[in-house]
Amino acid sequence: MNVGILGATGAVGQKFIRLLNQHPWFTITALGASDRSAGKTYKEAANWIEDVPLPEEIAGMTVQACTPEAMKGVDFVFSGLDSSVATEIEGAFAKAGIPVISNAKNYRQHAEVPLLIPEVNPEHIDLISTQSFSADGKGWIVTNPNCVAVPLSLALKPLHDRFGLENLSVTTLQALSGAGYPGVPSLDIIANVVPYISGEEPKIAPETQKILGHLSDGDIQRPEFTVDATCTRVHTLNGHMAAVSCRFKEKPASMEQVLDTLKNFQNPIADLELPFSPKELFHIHTEDNYPQPRLHADRDKGMSLHIGRLREGDFFHLNFVCMAHNTIRGAAGGAILNAELLMKKGWFS
Ligand code: NAP
Repeated sequence: MNVGILGATGAVGQKFIRLLNQHPWFTITALGASDRSAGKTYKEAANWIEDVPLPEEIAGMTVQACTPEAMKGVDFVFSGLDSSVATEIEGAFAKAGIPVISNAKNYRQHAEVPLLIPEVNPEHIDLISTQSFSADGKGWIVTNPNCVAVPLSLALKPLHDRFGLENLSVTTLQALSGAGYPGVPSLDIIANVVPYISGEEPKIAPETQKILGHLSDGDIQRPEFTVDATCTRVHTLNGHMAAVSCRFKEKPASMEQVLDTLKNFQNPIADLELPFSPKELFHIHTEDNYPQPRLHADRDKGMSLHIGRLREGDFFHLNFVCMAHNTIRGAAGGAILNAELLMKKGWFS
């Protein structure tokens, strides 16, 4: 399939270009960015920050304006657009009959738009049939969650299904690449922790609740657990970690029961063998000092979830940490897995 990338010059856009290089199903045929970049070759327009060479065939492509007319010939687009422009541009593509697989926050809470993690809520794809962006139904939007909501929802899915979440407390340690390029000023973050990320905390409750919600009659019934979130920026490069504490409706009988619940999770897309699926979805670490972003974020194509420090609390029933690569599992890689699932389920035909 011919794919376009909206926001191709940004941090997430570059990750798409890197990950889609030699993808068995998808070929990049159009690159879109702002007026600052349109008309230039990709090499001139983008400040390449990936640690692999820029693919030759991409370097010489001309960056287009982000319009369906300028990017004609694509079967669908991935979006890594800045949220200040994503509503209008993504909406225009869907209206023109071109499906959009987006990383931006703009449509995540739209009642008809799936907020998709293939291993958690693949049935939410059915929401697409309720959308009316394009008259013929060919243009639709699917989003992937915020880069912290991804590891959190993956870890919580088996626990919520088994014990029923009631209260959640989350403190995140988020890597620098999550702020895009140029991101956080170096003098703010070197040898430091910043205990605030603008706009981040309010996303965690609604996104996690929507993802873990139950689709019934075209509507997502959201579970009613409470979420207290504190989001911090730390001096790591890739891999968002979250320290999580939960109380459940039913208190787990033991830590063995918690471990069994995680280990026996039935991944609903395991037998589809999608190119971007990790070999092992959950890496459960038993060492006291694991997982660590620098050691583990890239494992298994950067698509796995790492869980560790599982232990009982005095007030909370369970404490643990989880971690996943924020620009791969939490952004471009997650979006590619979404597209693979949608293709396998026939949504592009
Ligand atoms: P970024 O590095 O700032 O890139 C933004 C992209 O949007 C650039 O390609 C830019 O093009 C383009 N753009 C800006 N204004 C535009 C306009 N008026 N018309 C068309 N294109 C325009 O940001 P990022 O970190 O890649 O994030 C991109 C999106 O993904 C954001 O919505 C972000 O919230 C989301 N996201 C990021 C992460 C992460 O870990 N970084 C994770 C999940 C989701 P120019 O180069 O031409 O300005």
